[in-house]
Amino acid sequence: MTQAAPQLERETDRYRLVYDANAKTGRMELTLFAKAEGKHKAVHTSFNLLDDDGKLIEKRPITAEVAAFIMDHFERRGDTESLNIHAADLAAGKLGARSGQRITPEGVRHTLTNTEKSFTATGAKLEAHWPIFEKLRDTGYGSLIRATMTNHQVCSSRCQFCSTIARNKRDSVSLEEAKAFVEALYFEQAEFNRQRFPEYNERYKALTGSDIRLRGLILSGGGQPNLWPHFAEFVEWLATLDIDLGLITNGFPQKVPEEVYRHFKWIRLSITPEDASPFYPEGRFEDQYIPATVRNNPDVTVGMSFVFGPWAKDGILERLSGMLKANGFDYVRLLTDCNLTRDSQLLAHRDLAEMLFKGGHIDDKGVPTGGLFQQFKYHGTPQEAEELWDKGQCFLQSYNVFWDTTGHEESGRSFCYPCDSVTVLAEEETDGNVNISERKFNPSKWGTVPNTEVSRLFTEKVHPFFDPRKNCTSCLFMRNNRFVKELASRADYQSIRPNPDLEHINFP
Ligand code: SF4
Repeated sequence: MTQAAPQLERETDRYRLVYDANAKTGRMELTLFAKAEGKHKAVHTSFNLLDDDGKLIEKRPITAEVAAFIMDHFERRGDTESLNIHAADLAAGKLGARSGQRITPEGVRHTLTNTEKSFTATGAKLEAHWPIFEKLRDTGYGSLIRATMTNHQVCSSRCQFCSTIARNKRDSVSLEEAKAFVEALYFEQAEFNRQRFPEYNERYKALTGSDIRLRGLILSGGGQPNLWPHFAEFVEWLATLDIDLGLITNGFPQKVPEEVYRHFKWIRLSITPEDASPFYPEGRFEDQYIPATVRNNPDVTVGMSFVFGPWAKDGILERLSGMLKANGFDYVRLLTDCNLTRDSQLLAHRDLAEMLFKGGHIDDKGVPTGGLFQQFKYHGTPQEAEELWDKGQCFLQSYNVFWDTTGHEESGRSFCYPCDSVTVLAEEETDGNVNISERKFNPSKWGTVPNTEVSRLFTEKVHPFFDPRKNCTSCLFMRNNRFVKELASRADYQSIRPNPDLEHINFP
């Protein structure tokens, strides 16, 4: 029997778009099939209808008329902004002229609290490591105290906003490669600093009790790092070292021994759109399996994370709050889709803040009243980029490394990056076109050194591998970059008084 052709279909550079009925549910869906190696897909059933000021009128199902509109403008608006449609444009059947900058960060109800500073990387925790910046100022050498590893690219969810939708799920590393990476940052770096920079190393030791070496390590990536076959063995080995461990995952595979989670200082459970996760019973995230060692455990900080977008169902905030209480978790972090452009991201933050305010989750200043907080994260601008990186050097590279396994299958090695936000650098251009994010790690654009040469990041002076003024004008970490720039150019370090109320200081 031949299959009926989909109702609507279109092909672009990176995607094949299909609008058709779901074979099981009969529901109409717009599916974006990534043409890249991994052939990942994102299924959309709703879009945001916006007024002329960019304010959300309502979330609506994608009809055939809307799907046609999205396909007609997909090349210009891209895989994320296409789902934000102005009512006037839809009525006219074409994109109207609209200037960016319809909102500034001050237009969002928000206060940066110690909770947000502790459980996200705002730059505030860097002061607790000040001797490494004195070393950077005087010698030009970096100190990698924080790292993130993605040991494979496997994930069973299909999130519409996935930051690595174009990944190849065969890119994976061996246990030996993972250990060698950590050994370089831990043992070799400590020895290097003891020998080469004893003065700064001693000052760091007096402040923190440790040599200058890896202090905080996050296992992330592929959606579920705990599906990597060597996960439990690797964590048991890591636990023999003095490193704070963090885990970011979409869920807990049943086959992983529950005891392994006791080794983490913190775990962040990403709550995906409910139709994107096959392991949510009856499509309800609250009913997923949570290991007994993770529930009501005062020794492990457990947070949930939810990306707010058209997939958010009514009543979501109350349900997140309910799961938080039922499991004795510590917080819920809410954020917006990083694939949006700056203006749209700020507008989405504003909508989210108002929803939190109406629900009593934040007060009129944006201070959380309970366990839910909004991470206020948005893209920088080209002007800020010029001013910040006047020497063409990303400052995160001096203390942070993100190893992603993209390309590992083909080359037997893969690359390090200064941060993970390089996959989601979207930018609005002046003519209404969107320069969409890559949604994958591109070593030729943002790579620093291969995993096998990670030592070069501390044995060589910090130097640029690319120019962030060209490649990162919409960086999400400009505030963190600014912190480092200021810390590495101070006249005096003795007067620094790190905030004693911040937690998780080894994840700055
Ligand atoms: S996005 Fe920002 S933090 Fe990341 S590499 Fe570029 S400049 Fe550095």
